[in-house]
Amino acid sequence: MQRTFAIIKPDAVAKGVAGRILSKIEENGFKVVAMKMMHMTDAQARGFYQVHRERPFFGSLVAFMTQGPSIVMALEGDNAIARWRELMGATDPAKAAAGTIRKEFASSIEANAVHGSDAPDTAAFEIPYFFSALEITAR
Ligand code: GDP
Repeated sequence: MQRTFAIIKPDAVAKGVAGRILSKIEENGFKVVAMKMMHMTDAQARGFYQVHRERPFFGSLVAFMTQGPSIVMALEGDNAIARWRELMGATDPAKAAAGTIRKEFASSIEANAVHGSDAPDTAAFEIPYFFSALEITAR
């Protein structure tokens, strides 16, 4: 059993497809063990994406992530990190496989509907960045 961190990003919440994305998460066997809607501040988004601070798109990415509310979650399941990345699809929706969330719901390489931790050490940073132990439900 493994946990990963997921976000339904502001573009997907604004488009009204959060419920459809959550359905796919549940249909694919993930357990949602923590969830909340939040409108990230500039400082929160910068801290979350600190690994990308030198990238040319960093400022634009922070502006995108703070443009409206998003839904942050911790998901649990067998091989959850890799399986959630697979269900998300490639970063660029033009390259995302059929049946993936980004293929169906992403608008661009930046406004790409969802986030998922890319490795165990990333999940270990990202889950407690947004959730205290008390907010994570044992299921
Ligand atoms: P992910 O792990 O698939 O989310 O991709 P990355 O970790 O490489 O990038 C983090 C996020 O930055 C992506 O999900 C996009 O929202 C955004 N992003 C990635 N590449 C680009 C890019 O080339 N241009 C812009 N504007 N945003 C990007």
